[in-house]
Amino acid sequence: MDLKTLIRDIPDFPKPGIVFRDITTLLRQPEGLRATADLLREQCQGAGFAPDYIIGMESRGFMFAPLLAYQLGAGFIPVRKPGKLPGAIHSVEYDLEYGTDCLEIHQDAIEAGKKVLIVDDLMATGGTAKAAAELVGFCGAELIGFAFVIELVALKGRDCLPDVPIISLISY
Ligand code: IMP
Repeated sequence: MDLKTLIRDIPDFPKPGIVFRDITTLLRQPEGLRATADLLREQCQGAGFAPDYIIGMESRGFMFAPLLAYQLGAGFIPVRKPGKLPGAIHSVEYDLEYGTDCLEIHQDAIEAGKKVLIVDDLMATGGTAKAAAELVGFCGAELIGFAFVIELVALKGRDCLPDVPIISLISY
């Protein structure tokens, strides 16, 4: 199945000049959802990923990380926008095109030394994934890789990420 045909391009969203890759049209298709979940599992197993935990970033990472965690027999850990997690947190600020953003994780979410895979729907500049990797480091855990459904290759997000294997299902 060609997953790209199920992703909708929305021009000028969220602002003029940006082409937004909309995955809601992929998620709503039973065969597309199943194929995405199966491909993620196959590629992660092919890469030798055997994580204890899978991290998903709010909010579209939440749509794929728990699916993959279930399939790989791992736990799911949410990384959230500021002020959402009730317990003690680690937080990291990262740069956006204009301004900064922040991501948070529970301090006790990951035991030191555990193997962690970071999952998101899409990698653009890599800033979000890099910030999540820093949170994994704060917890003293071992980052073993990244998995994305979509990679915007021209933005070279890979270049700013730690030196671990990276898989993506669809490239633009
Ligand atoms: P980055 O930090 O520049 O790599 O941006 C990646 C983050 O922005 C991910 O969490 C994505 O969910 C979101 N994102 C950026 N562009 C798109 C898009 O075209 N479609 C869906 N999500 C996007």
